[in-house]
Amino acid sequence: MEKRPTLRFLAGREDAGSTPDPAAPKQLDKISKEILESFMGLNYFIKCQKCNYKFEKIKTGVSFLFGNIDDILYVLNDNDKKIVQLLQQQNKIHTHYSKGYSIYQCNNCYSLENICHLMLYDKYGNIIFRSESYCNQCQNLRDYIPEDNNNKIIPDLHCPICHNQDLEIDVVNLWD
Ligand SMILES: [Zn+2]
Ligand SMILES: [Zn+2]
Repeated sequence: MEKRPTLRFLAGREDAGSTPDPAAPKQLDKISKEILESFMGLNYFIKCQKCNYKFEKIKTGVSFLFGNIDDILYVLNDNDKKIVQLLQQQNKIHTHYSKGYSIYQCNNCYSLENICHLMLYDKYGNIIFRSESYCNQCQNLRDYIPEDNNNKIIPDLHCPICHNQDLEIDVVNLWD
């Protein structure tokens, strides 16, 4: 009696003609927030000469990554992200302006926050969104504190603990 031939594929046959999985995530989605942030400007710390208060990992500056709003979305807080995405869907954003990471300080309790500055305008030039830093303790919007990049100082900054203005600022690393 003849043996019935076994049906089998040649080695590797199963893979022939396979196409890339369309559901595979795009490469950019895998880039972590930390890696993105490290490209975005100066990274430094502030140290108070009087009370030894130290605020580490402060970021400032604008980089090429802030060229479009989708890049900025990565670093906004969840609430702001939702607002900006909604404005995008409604096609209300005409232009945007970002100073990148900035320091905000409460003029009452001197608490600090380091967030990404962003302003959005509609086609009439009206501001439709502005990133804000809110001090819960004082129910007060923190002020934007400009830095003096030429002299590498932040002239108006106060120590959040002892309120002295004699702060030492050191750059941790510079993006290249
Ligand atoms: Zn405050
Ligand atoms: Zn101090």
